[in-house]
Amino acid sequence: MHQLTLAEIARGLADKSFSSEELTRTLLERINQLDPQLNSFISVTEELAISQARAADARRAAGDNGPLLGAPIAHKDLFCTQGIRTSCGSKMLDNFKAPYDATVVSKLAEAGTVTLGKTNMDEFAMGSANESSHYGAVKNPWNLEHVPGGSSGGSAAAVAARLLPATTGTDTGGSIRQPAALTNLTGLKPTYGRVSRWGMIAYASSLDQGGPLARTAEDCALMLQGMAGFDAKDSTCIDEPVPDYSAALNGSLEGLRIGLPKEYFGAGLDPRIADLIQASVKELEKLGAVVKEISLPNMQHGIPAYYVIAPAEASSNLSRFDGVRFGYRCENPADLTDLYKRSRGEGFGPEVQRRIMVGAYALSAGYYDAYYLQAQKIRRLIKNDFMTAFNDVDVILGPTTPNLAWKIGAKNNDPVAAYLEDVYTITANLAGLPGLSMPAGFVDGLPVGVQLLAPYFQEGRLLNVAHRYQQVTDWHTRAPNGF
Ligand code: GLN
Repeated sequence: MHQLTLAEIARGLADKSFSSEELTRTLLERINQLDPQLNSFISVTEELAISQARAADARRAAGDNGPLLGAPIAHKDLFCTQGIRTSCGSKMLDNFKAPYDATVVSKLAEAGTVTLGKTNMDEFAMGSANESSHYGAVKNPWNLEHVPGGSSGGSAAAVAARLLPATTGTDTGGSIRQPAALTNLTGLKPTYGRVSRWGMIAYASSLDQGGPLARTAEDCALMLQGMAGFDAKDSTCIDEPVPDYSAALNGSLEGLRIGLPKEYFGAGLDPRIADLIQASVKELEKLGAVVKEISLPNMQHGIPAYYVIAPAEASSNLSRFDGVRFGYRCENPADLTDLYKRSRGEGFGPEVQRRIMVGAYALSAGYYDAYYLQAQKIRRLIKNDFMTAFNDVDVILGPTTPNLAWKIGAKNNDPVAAYLEDVYTITANLAGLPGLSMPAGFVDGLPVGVQLLAPYFQEGRLLNVAHRYQQVTDWHTRAPNGF
């Protein structure tokens, strides 16, 4: 039963091959058995899951047949869940039980999903390897010595290991797409404003966006349907009608114009990954797509701009964790200043402290114009590049990551080396565009992802391309040994 996709689960539940409670119990047992190898969960919510599964079975018996009704999922541990620890991967929030559900959590619960738990993540979603969690590193099920990517690494590892069919993640600079690529999943970062950020613990508010991780585009469509939509509680959530994403999956790719940015295929890209990306382009050409070389001339400025803007916003967002209002408080503070200093110094890990310091520096008087304002100008140039490119093409295709999943610890002494892994994903966040990563093959037994980007609100187009590709390839169906 653990091999089933969300779409298959929906069919199995509808024709009564099994109940949600049976499925939920099977998966909970699998998590108990296998997760100690992976460390993909921070909390397993067994009681909640059983009660939600029973409620879903009762709803179904009463005639409800929604596509997510009774489907087991898990949430990245930065989505607030009422009465359940919401740690954000940090010692700072180890004892924090959220007083309310994030909009994404409540929307998916209304659709009938069953929450199996909260998944491990880089502390405050800062990272590309899921090594900075207070709860320890997450292992990649394709090779337990390698990272699963980050920051939604727990969400990715759990789905890749068939512990459950789908999870939520968040993507500030690539944290859905990059772990999807490194674990052989399909992951979608929606347009900024498509999914409510209310109740998502903020990292960099102008970049953060929630989205799904699953094994297929078909399942991402089901998840996005449950997550997307206007929410008055998030002032940046956009009031656009939500299309039927599943209905868009089978559209023809005849004449689809694919742009290949020449900047994506230069130095820094593992040539074995480049070969697999070219092979995926060939498959799409067979389906009728036409390919065009394009240019995104400001792409190389993405990383420096992002690593000013994201820490700047983080330094502001994380000021609320002061030892008074939320989470960790140091022992026996001498006075108020000591309380602030030690609560933050002891509660935050080294990567989070580094980002807060970089951000506070970039925002300080005298440096604001030189760094933050400059980075915002670059952000606009990057957006303009995409707008120009989308005049000529329908989607932009390239690698999701320049390298394969690296060995745990390999980049620990060089934070900038890890930052460079975000080179292909970060620009979509700076521009607010939707992006998807899907499986494109393997090198040395490790998965490779291909990334697709589309104009604003064209998530349906991304899912359509990925679904058609997945009908003629089988990379996405492959499971790691032992799982
Ligand atoms: N790796 C990037 C960072 O560390 C992106 C993280 C994310 O998308 N949450 O900031």
